[in-house]
Amino acid sequence: MSFVIRCLDCGHAAPFTPNSMQCPKCSSQWREAEYDMVVAAKTFPSQLTRREFDLWRYQELLPIRTPNPSLRLGEGGTPLIKAANLGMMLGLNNLYIKDERQGPTSSFKDRQASLTIAALKEGGITEMVAASTGNVAIALSAYAARAGIKLWAFVTSLVPGVKMREIALYGSQVIKITGSYDQAKQMASEFARQRGLYQDMGARTVTAVEAMKTLAFEIAEQLTLQNGPAEGSSDDNPKWRTPDWYVQAISGGMGPLGVYKGFKELKQLGIIDNIPALAPIQVEGCAPMVESWKKGLEIAEPVLSPKTRIETLATGDPGRTYSMLRNQVNETGGVFESVSDEESFRAMHALAKMEGISAEPASGTAFAGLFKLVRAGIIKPDDVVVVNCTGHTMPAEQYLFTEGWTRDIDLGKKQAEADTPQEGLLSALNNVTPNRFSRVAVVDDTPEARRLIRRILQSQGDFEIFEAANGREGVELIARELPDLVILDLMMPEMDGYAVMDALRSKPETTNIPVIVATAKELTVDEKSRLQGQIQSLMLKGDFLNDEFLDEVRSLIK
Ligand SMILES: *Cc1c(COP(=O)(O)O)cnc(C)c1O
Ligand SMILES: [Zn+2]
Repeated sequence: MSFVIRCLDCGHAAPFTPNSMQCPKCSSQWREAEYDMVVAAKTFPSQLTRREFDLWRYQELLPIRTPNPSLRLGEGGTPLIKAANLGMMLGLNNLYIKDERQGPTSSFKDRQASLTIAALKEGGITEMVAASTGNVAIALSAYAARAGIKLWAFVTSLVPGVKMREIALYGSQVIKITGSYDQAKQMASEFARQRGLYQDMGARTVTAVEAMKTLAFEIAEQLTLQNGPAEGSSDDNPKWRTPDWYVQAISGGMGPLGVYKGFKELKQLGIIDNIPALAPIQVEGCAPMVESWKKGLEIAEPVLSPKTRIETLATGDPGRTYSMLRNQVNETGGVFESVSDEESFRAMHALAKMEGISAEPASGTAFAGLFKLVRAGIIKPDDVVVVNCTGHTMPAEQYLFTEGWTRDIDLGKKQAEADTPQEGLLSALNNVTPNRFSRVAVVDDTPEARRLIRRILQSQGDFEIFEAANGREGVELIARELPDLVILDLMMPEMDGYAVMDALRSKPETTNIPVIVATAKELTVDEKSRLQGQIQSLMLKGDFLNDEFLDEVRSLIK
């Protein structure tokens, strides 16, 4: 690997010294690694296939001298998972989840921590300071423990107790600040200055941004492994695929900065043609970048007192990172967007129910942002979308579930009351499930749609579900089972939804069964008037994520 550290202010190029925090010429802290791409192209990407699928696979484009760091914990190389259920719900055909929960400490901060600590160890550092909204301190602590580096972690009192205990578990000293994250950062700087200690500088830490690049490398390589080489690829000029969108919840914004740089370097090497549009998402209570971007500002207006329960995303003053990210978002045709805490919690819940992926609320923010951009028509059905999904899941449930979310069986008590143990078990079970489940018939010719509706209903309550794959079967099924509710597709071959409704209305037993029509596309005025008075409700399939759908189902079942 052959590279220099280039100052973004005066252009001075210096060799990399991990423990120096500024440009030797002008003292600017804003610098980046610049590689000799001709040298890198000799091995990259041709040599990659023989290497392990982890962060160090991309060593030609990483600022580290030792190619084989001894501090590894299995960082990087996380799965890229196709999200078929969520995709279907949103009408997205190519939705992928980069599962960054699957790292040593469950967040993508493992990337930055592994490279940063490896470099600091090379630089002889033994004690350091970091301010964090939680996950950076956890990741740095894990690697610092292996490297024998002492970490002073400054966190705000809003960071969940489980996260603070984990930082402490690795042997770091937690310093809890009752104040904003920006204040915690100031305290950390002051402390580091007084003691002459190295301080992690967030997006100004060269190794942190460089580590985040590996997300871009992996995404492009994995899309290619899963879908075949990109157009124009040949043996001597292999081309990787890139997504159309990279969606991530941001706090300080380092993730997208690094991801952008990663794609840019791939483009310089001729391995890809396009850099994806960036969609950084913030929470409304702390959205300085989104608000500044929407106002067209070049410099961010800080949010002095963030109001969000999602502490991971509580950077109120993004500083220069905003201006850099703004240029990249504009250049790639991306957008900044914000969503509420509640939307984030709901999206987090949808992700878990639909895809079996439980991530912390900050990742819910990324998904809520995705939902919003799809609804706004900014992200299109055929776009290839990658969402960064990351973070611990522990602090979630206190906001998500109201009382009664468990169904409790105390066998000791039940058994004592009953004459026989068997009777005790049965009556205990009866107490937690209703005697009769509500009965719902789903008539839809696409199996995926039926599976999705079944999944949504079952994840939220007790339903007995019947399925029919076409209109004729549907009419027979409904006459036989007399369900409490029918969910009906309109566009079906042969006997369509309109004909099904005519058949139901023509018989006294079925004429009063409520019908929800679920369609894949917006109806025309004509089509709507044909349905007038015939159905109880009309849902677009992309709207199924809305709790409205379930509210509607519940209100129609008597
Ligand atoms: C750090 C973090 C973010 C924000 O990342 P940045 O790119 O640094 O703004 C989002 N989600 C989780 C879970 C994080 O740990
Ligand atoms: Zn300089």
